[in-house]
Amino acid sequence: MLAVDRRTWLSILAEAWRVYPEEACGVLVARPGIDQPIVRFEPVANAAASSRVFTLDPKGFMKAERRADDDGLEVVGVVHSHTHTAAYPSPTDVAEATTPLVPPTWHWAIVSLAWGFPELRSFRVTPGEGDVDTLAGIAEERVVLS
Ligand SMILES: [Zn+2]
Repeated sequence: MLAVDRRTWLSILAEAWRVYPEEACGVLVARPGIDQPIVRFEPVANAAASSRVFTLDPKGFMKAERRADDDGLEVVGVVHSHTHTAAYPSPTDVAEATTPLVPPTWHWAIVSLAWGFPELRSFRVTPGEGDVDTLAGIAEERVVLS
């Protein structure tokens, strides 16, 4: 379950529209533990500067991680926008999500701006069980907006 309050949701949306039509990205920060409510969204530059893929800028990611650490929090997931497609992981996303660098506990949240209203969905990706073609190993989780 991904629990997001309105302020966090609005900051995700603001970043998604700010860099539109490129994909926006950033990280979700929460208290340590399973399914803790998200405390904040930290925008991170998309090093790929693309409307089709995203790469978290390594320096920006490290800064966000350090800030979380300083506050006794941790990075628990990543958010990126899809500007022209639905809020489901693309094959590229699945490949990224199953690299050893990504903790399997991470929320993999996607906001789609492809239609008239934004849509937020979140997924858990299980490495080793993933099949890029069938998207097996990708489980959608409930998103709770408060
Ligand atoms: Zn994507």
